[in-house]
Amino acid sequence: MTSASAASSEPTPAAPADAAWPACCEVLVIGAGPAGSACAQRLARAGVDVVMVDQHTFPRDKICGDGLIPDSHAALRALGVYDEVAALWQPAQHVRCVGPRGGHCDVPGTLSVLPRKVLDDVLVRAAQRAGARLLTPWRFEAPLEDAAGRVAGARLRQGDEVREIGARWVVLATGAVPQALSAAGMCDRHTPSGVALRTYVRHPGLAASLRQLQFIWHPRMRGGYGWIFPGPDGVFNIGAGHPGSHRKLKSGKGQMQDLNLRRFFEAFASVYEPARRLMTEGERLGELKGAPLRCSLLGARWSRDGLLVTGEAAGSTYAFSGEGIGKAMETGLIAADALLASPRPARAVTGDDADVRQRYEAGLLGLKPKFDLYERAARVNDHPWLADLVIWRANKSPRIMARMSAVIEERQNPGWLLSWRGMRKLLTE
Ligand SMILES: Cc1cc2nc3c(=O)[nH]c(=O)nc-3n(C[C@H](O)[C@H](O)[C@H](O)COP(=O)(O)OP(=O)(O)OC[C@H]3O[C@@H](n4cnc5c(N)ncnc54)[C@H](O)[C@@H]3O)c2cc1C
Repeated sequence: MTSASAASSEPTPAAPADAAWPACCEVLVIGAGPAGSACAQRLARAGVDVVMVDQHTFPRDKICGDGLIPDSHAALRALGVYDEVAALWQPAQHVRCVGPRGGHCDVPGTLSVLPRKVLDDVLVRAAQRAGARLLTPWRFEAPLEDAAGRVAGARLRQGDEVREIGARWVVLATGAVPQALSAAGMCDRHTPSGVALRTYVRHPGLAASLRQLQFIWHPRMRGGYGWIFPGPDGVFNIGAGHPGSHRKLKSGKGQMQDLNLRRFFEAFASVYEPARRLMTEGERLGELKGAPLRCSLLGARWSRDGLLVTGEAAGSTYAFSGEGIGKAMETGLIAADALLASPRPARAVTGDDADVRQRYEAGLLGLKPKFDLYERAARVNDHPWLADLVIWRANKSPRIMARMSAVIEERQNPGWLLSWRGMRKLLTE
């Protein structure tokens, strides 16, 4: 085997003489976020020998809004951890949409909020309980390749120490950062689709009244939105995101300085009273921290022989709302199912690559139309006045409200709002 990036000139590190270190496994999952853990758990439950690797030791923080929408709830059920997670989260019954003129509507939905430090730890432990082995803190550096160029394992690094693991299949679930994708030769676009930042603030006074997942649109945050999500113990996740920064820059309509997220966030805290109160009266529990988003199933190749790319690494986050925890788990499960459907699970020899890849890519393609609609819906972020119109109509028409609720519950696509027919319905229904 050779390491793809090291080529043949660099000596392969000696196999470690460490009994606890697996020399090989059937499936090596890189990245133990929701996508990687979901994939590993399903495979391990089916009896596959799975090793998970993450650069961080768990529990670890992940910069996120922590909002769980119905697709997350469904995936948690599929993974058998719904009750465990539900005992920890803060439930919510509504998404509150707030427009530039200050009007709002409360759209019913099955929602909750749980810090990722807690959620991801539950998911990773569930995968371990199912039999997956976890190695941390090890950083994926490069794939190992066999003589035919098929991925056959990975080279991992911890400080100065470098080790290898051979694997029948590697699943790359490394999230929105592009380094691992690039090292594996899977990155089509280095720039993220968007960026977002958040902090935590405790405010017991507001916790009694602010119980919805709030999204706020305003011309001073054109291209994105602010959010306030009430989590457990009176702690709010407050942040601002620009999920379409890549699109804006590509079209030449934006300048990088326009996308200074901290200024974006300051604007949010000055135009929206609950945000202002949180930031001036609340107890700050951490710094404002930003992270990239990869959306719309774009920006990376989904597979090559011996390797599948899943979760946000494959762009599984919604462009409109920046939500991606549920779809990360869903795509991780699709990857596991594609591997399990092979005649001899994960023991697929080289000849089975095409089958596994085809099944996996077909699964992602099935989700693509929905992602495309969210990409189009993201244009609402560029035209905040549209939020005013929708809010005004939703408060007048129970049918419009029901449609919006159906979008949140994933029973209806957001595309209806973007067509002329949808617009007509919005104005007349
Ligand atoms: C500010 C912000 C707010 C958001 N808010 C929400 C929200 O409210 N609701 C929602 O549903 N989604 C939200 N998202 C999106 C959500 O965070 C992602 O969709 C989700 O985390 C994707 O899961 P994943 O498992 O694919 O990747 P991740 O959760 O990013 O997990 C990837 C894992 O891979 C590991 N890793 C990365 N590189 C390597 C490497 N080289 N070697 C080893 N390990 C590696 C990382 O340590 C990490 O543990 C938000 C995103 C941001 C940035």
